[in-house]
Amino acid sequence: MNHYPVHERTSKYVDIARQALQRLGHATNAELLSALHADYPEVSTTTIHRITARMLERGEVQLAPSGKKNVLRYDFNLEPHDHFMCTHCGLIRDATLSAVVRPLIEQAIGDGCSISGSLTVSGLCKNCQS
Ligand SMILES: [Zn+2]
Ligand SMILES: [Zn+2]
Repeated sequence: MNHYPVHERTSKYVDIARQALQRLGHATNAELLSALHADYPEVSTTTIHRITARMLERGEVQLAPSGKKNVLRYDFNLEPHDHFMCTHCGLIRDATLSAVVRPLIEQAIGDGCSISGSLTVSGLCKNCQS
């Protein structure tokens, strides 16, 4: 189990962390760490931080809206996309807000302002409404 040289262990965790993020869609370092800890309790916070920083640097992940805790949250989906975010539990899901909606929002903002990046709509998810 622990007979690999350090660099091999780290690259092994890179793949595992990538797969966990793919499964979760969006995750913070803490969420990734707890996902990995089920099978790999030896993975440290530092290792996860190093892996996600490297994936971000290489453009293998992007940053998702961070939410109320204001911690970095990684997004496996590299396509430009919008999000819905629950302000109560922090749930985040990808959304495609129709091209029809953007001109309406720009019109409401006024003064010739034009939306460039992605939109994040906040509210309450189904679970938090009940
Ligand atoms: Zn919620
Ligand atoms: Zn996303």
